[in-house]
Amino acid sequence: MEVGRQLMLMNGQWVESSGGEFIPVENPGRKGSIVGEVPRAKSADVDRAVKAAAKAFEEWKRVTPRERGKLMSKISEAIEMRANEIARITALETGNAIRTQSRPEAMLTADLFRFFGGVASEIKGETVPLGENLLSYSRREPIGVVGGIVPWNSPVGLAGLKIAMAITAGNTLVLKPSSEAPLAVLEVARVCSAFLPAGVLNVVTGTGSECGIPLARHPLVRKLTFTGSYEIGRTIMEAAAERIVPVTLELGGKSPQIVFPDANEPQVVDGVFLAMRFTRQGQSCTAGSRLFLHESIYDSFLEKLVNKLKSLKIGDPLDESTDMGTIINQTQFEKVCSFVEDGIQQKGARLLTGGLPPKEGPLAQGYFMEPTVIGNVQNDWRIAREEIFGPVLVVIPWKEEEEAIRMANESHYGLAAFIWTHDIGKGLRTAHRIESGWVQINQGVGIVPGQSYGGFKQSGFGREYSLEGMLESFTQRKSITVNLQF
Ligand code: NAD
Repeated sequence: MEVGRQLMLMNGQWVESSGGEFIPVENPGRKGSIVGEVPRAKSADVDRAVKAAAKAFEEWKRVTPRERGKLMSKISEAIEMRANEIARITALETGNAIRTQSRPEAMLTADLFRFFGGVASEIKGETVPLGENLLSYSRREPIGVVGGIVPWNSPVGLAGLKIAMAITAGNTLVLKPSSEAPLAVLEVARVCSAFLPAGVLNVVTGTGSECGIPLARHPLVRKLTFTGSYEIGRTIMEAAAERIVPVTLELGGKSPQIVFPDANEPQVVDGVFLAMRFTRQGQSCTAGSRLFLHESIYDSFLEKLVNKLKSLKIGDPLDESTDMGTIINQTQFEKVCSFVEDGIQQKGARLLTGGLPPKEGPLAQGYFMEPTVIGNVQNDWRIAREEIFGPVLVVIPWKEEEEAIRMANESHYGLAAFIWTHDIGKGLRTAHRIESGWVQINQGVGIVPGQSYGGFKQSGFGREYSLEGMLESFTQRKSITVNLQF
């Protein structure tokens, strides 16, 4: 076990679960090998953590935003110092390649703390001009104990985001990482705990049913922030509805990329590749996984894309020369394979590269998959409708602009979108018509701190990642009016 047995953070202490059980964390690069283990928290542990957070809230909410921000800036620096170790652990437990994914994710995490630390003093109210004899003003107050639940695909970045936003805004937090990837999150929590008062940040490690449900339903939790699948998002919303607490849901996606006929150059191929998040094995909620390619450039564009994909180095996530690591676990691996099987069996579908993974050789020792492109797909096929969360790009040809936009919007998801054209007017018109929370024209990069991020339709609601997102999602506004003639 490279990382060994870890404890969880509760009220400033590192503790086991009350049942004393542990959950093993597998290294997906070497099937069956265990990287480390974490406490198996259940409802009694969640209860302890939430009560600690509720107690800490009474003091923490009185710390001025600027002071809270200063601590976030210190945490940012400390994370940067630990970035290599955080990245190594992330690579071991998620299979995300260290150079292309895990290290950039650790650096992004530091950046998130820096960003929210920097804008902390913007947590402020307004005055309302009700007349000479009245003083009316508003305050942005923290909500209380936040229950945060994050997935495995970008564990440190998403955990860092929830911690930085919730705590900078004056709340206290009980965070539950995925049991598939809790180790690097605990490392980030270790850094944070050196700066934060006891109970402000608590991390409970456990499964969704044993630990996630009690957290979502705990009566002292006053706000839920969930990043994960659409299916679990619904149960989180039910839990929020039971007690009427605010909830932010950052869910899945099946994001379109529309390539217009004037954008058939290598730079666009590189951008489409990046937007599909191939080097994260497509395991990204914002992956541009439906490629709408104009029929006039269809063959030549795909030829360039396939050549690029064939040059990728797939292998050991810890090897600095690796471009692409592994799928997270066996369940997800089998799910992705079943999508590929289903897709290539459809009438008219063409497998352009990749496909089912090798059954022997070095890549069969982990959950490795090759980047896969399936062409001539129809927009109503299962592979074009459901989130695969694997390195599988489906390509759909189009003739008329209207048709491309209609198909792009024919999805119950609406998280991200990517448009490729030299005609900026056309690009902007298309962006305005796309039903997604985040549209990029002529680039396929990730979200940057400061941009409000969140979905349309069943990709969720609420915004995070920005100052406005923090204010809307993690504070509540109070209006106060004073009669000056009293
Ligand atoms: P998931 O929904 O299975 O799990 C997410 C988290 O919820 C985990 O911590 C899990 O343990 C917990 N959980 C599971 N069941 C629960 C329950 N009944 N009650 C409470 N908590 C429960 O998702 P996943 O497989 O870990 O992650 C992949 C999904 O996350 C994809 O759908 C992806 O699109 C989505 N995602 C969205 C964003 C975004 O910002 N919109 C970012 C990353 C991932």
